[in-house]
Amino acid sequence: MFSSLAKQYSNAKKIDIWFSFSLIDIRRENNYARDQISSMSTDFDIAIIGSGMAGASLGYALRNIARIVIIEAESVAGYHTTGRSAAFYTETYGGPAVRSLTTQSKDFLFTPPAGFSDVPLVYARGALHIATSRQAHRLTEMLAEYADFPAIQRLSRDEVYALVPVLKPDYSIGGIYDPDCKDIDVAALHAGYLCGCRQAGVDMLYDAPVTKLKHDSAGWHIKAGDREVNAAMIVNAAGAWADSVATLAGAQKKHLTPMRRTVISFRPQPDLYDSTMPMVLDIDDRFYFKPDAGHIWASPADETSMAACDVQPDEIDIATIAARIEAVTHFKISRIERRWAGLRTFAPGRGPVFGFDESVPDFFWCAGQGGFGIQTAPAASAHCAALIAAH
Ligand SMILES: Cc1cc2nc3c(=O)[nH]c(=O)nc-3n(C[C@H](O)[C@H](O)[C@H](O)COP(=O)(O)OP(=O)(O)OC[C@H]3O[C@@H](n4cnc5c(N)ncnc54)[C@H](O)[C@@H]3O)c2cc1C
Repeated sequence: MFSSLAKQYSNAKKIDIWFSFSLIDIRRENNYARDQISSMSTDFDIAIIGSGMAGASLGYALRNIARIVIIEAESVAGYHTTGRSAAFYTETYGGPAVRSLTTQSKDFLFTPPAGFSDVPLVYARGALHIATSRQAHRLTEMLAEYADFPAIQRLSRDEVYALVPVLKPDYSIGGIYDPDCKDIDVAALHAGYLCGCRQAGVDMLYDAPVTKLKHDSAGWHIKAGDREVNAAMIVNAAGAWADSVATLAGAQKKHLTPMRRTVISFRPQPDLYDSTMPMVLDIDDRFYFKPDAGHIWASPADETSMAACDVQPDEIDIATIAARIEAVTHFKISRIERRWAGLRTFAPGRGPVFGFDESVPDFFWCAGQGGFGIQTAPAASAHCAALIAAH
């Protein structure tokens, strides 16, 4: 399957241009490949389960080489984790695999293909990890941990307060500053992928929870809401539900753990609002906050493991972050305007789960994107598309 495309992908990999030039552009010029594989007997070549960032970006990467359907349980795309993300682009996040995927995604995010989005996908932000006197040792540790990132600087107390004067004067003794951290416009990135899919004729099924999966010599038979869909291959991009979808297919679970993360938004005193303030993070990940359109977004950086569900914020996490913000800054939170929570789903070891299932045929995993599924989406989807094309 997809042999001619596999060759193109493997050539792309060999000359190590990966995602810095767009694999997608290659495919635009090679629509013939789609005609070659459309003689298959099933309705679709690939059924992608899940329309979040993982499913949408992979649908986009594959859109010109296969007949694709994206199947979504909800009535809108991105209702779960993708729509609840507070995403940043930061190359220091995660282990080596995640850092590498993030760096490989940079060109796409910073210079998207023509026509992909009417607005920029990233905006300047910066990230400042602050330490108290009791956390002073962490400044040295973090600087060593980020030794591969020359732009990262250690800041004195005065430099911290020059950047974030809203901090209480006796709170911080210094910080680690990453000037290259960006805000990502998650909605624009997701919309760009979905529009690209639609323009290429990718079929989208909404209100279609997948409840049965059966495989035989003709391929996969999928019960999705009140629809029956046939496809040669399944991509499992079901986010927090990826283990449940695997179970339906008869595959072994990957022991994915959905973890709740909470965010609140409040309007600060007008004289304290600074739209250019960097994102401020506790050096031990006990909280972070950043400005957003006249508001402050803040999170206790919570990680509460739970079963996949339409997760709601817990009152204790909301109270915790409000108290921390008031203890650390001069902000007064008179009213919390918005509160929400999303599930960040991690595999053991916290790396992504990309690849074909070992025991079930034609079943591809695109899961476990935890807290990095937005900033890695361009390279991750190109990587997964290459594996699928080579299959
Ligand atoms: C507060 C917060 C902050 C974050 N910050 C960052 C950040 O700074 N940088 C970053 O890169 N990432 C960040 N993330 C993580 C990022 O949002 C996720 O990694 C990413 O959105 C995961 O996308 P997904 O497509 O795997 O999951 P989802 O968006 O949840 O999509 C999965 C889809 O599958 C569908 N589905 C499930 N089961 C079925 C079924 N049986 N049938 C049909 N459809 C089904 C669901 O309805 C859902 O729409 C953050 C997340 C949160 C919550």
